[in-house]
Amino acid sequence: LIGVTILGNNSALPAFDRHPTSQIVTIDDQLLMIDCGEGTQMQMSRYKIKRGKINHIFISHLHGDHYFGLIGVITSMGLLGREHALNLYAPATLLEIINLQLKVASTTLPFQLNFIPIEKNGLLCAESKFTVHCFAVKHRIDCWGFRIAEKKNPRKIDREKTLQYEIPTAFYERLKLGEDYTNKEGELIKNEWVTTPNTETKVYCYCADTIYDETMVAHVRDCHLLYHETTYLHDLKDRAAARFHSTTEQAATIAVLANAKKLIIGHFSSKYESLEDFLKEATAVFANTELAIEGVSYAVR
Ligand SMILES: [Zn+2]
Ligand SMILES: [Zn+2]
Repeated sequence: LIGVTILGNNSALPAFDRHPTSQIVTIDDQLLMIDCGEGTQMQMSRYKIKRGKINHIFISHLHGDHYFGLIGVITSMGLLGREHALNLYAPATLLEIINLQLKVASTTLPFQLNFIPIEKNGLLCAESKFTVHCFAVKHRIDCWGFRIAEKKNPRKIDREKTLQYEIPTAFYERLKLGEDYTNKEGELIKNEWVTTPNTETKVYCYCADTIYDETMVAHVRDCHLLYHETTYLHDLKDRAAARFHSTTEQAATIAVLANAKKLIIGHFSSKYESLEDFLKEATAVFANTELAIEGVSYAVR
């Protein structure tokens, strides 16, 4: 099961009790953090996000509204006695920044910080239950989008049937991959007699700060949930382009072109107090759109 919880939905300046960008992706019992703007720790405690369950943090780019909260999160993990490793995926320069911050404070982390620089499109991380691919988006500085996919075995075991056919549990992993079983008597037990097809693998795509760019569509195609920034409403599309950001209609158009099942929009400019028009304009182009609201979790289905 994948879900996405919004911790920050605003762009650069915090405004109207909206915070800079951060999200938590939940895959079963694992939490992934995407971006970590200022105030993320406070948002984590407000929404009861457990630090210890976060083993992977992805930073899209090095504008402050996407990483100024990171050193706080990392050092708190250390103060709380974390021992298990943390994987941090980000543009290469971030490691220099973090190392300097730790050095001047003479802080030594009690856990291993594995830094994985994001350098080119492709597979960034492969774990037993999910994979993450990254792709370049077009922004003023290097910026990356992420495609997070559940990893599932193709078949699910029917325990009653495997007991009935006396298949040893040691063979279960191979059954999940679709293999047939031959017992001691040489009888063939067909895979489909003892398993059922697993549910569909779900995909979540995150596109942080980006100008409208149709080349992104190939990377987010057919996803179940798409997050796309909408810094501005449609009438400011020239300003959006000049600042390498997107509008409501543009985000919704990407969702249409990509055949996404659902769209959430965020990274709202602090000039807007009400978000109503964002929803109105986006749903006119792509009906299944929701605003990214802080504290709300969106199921990927
Ligand atoms: Zn931003
Ligand atoms: Zn930016």
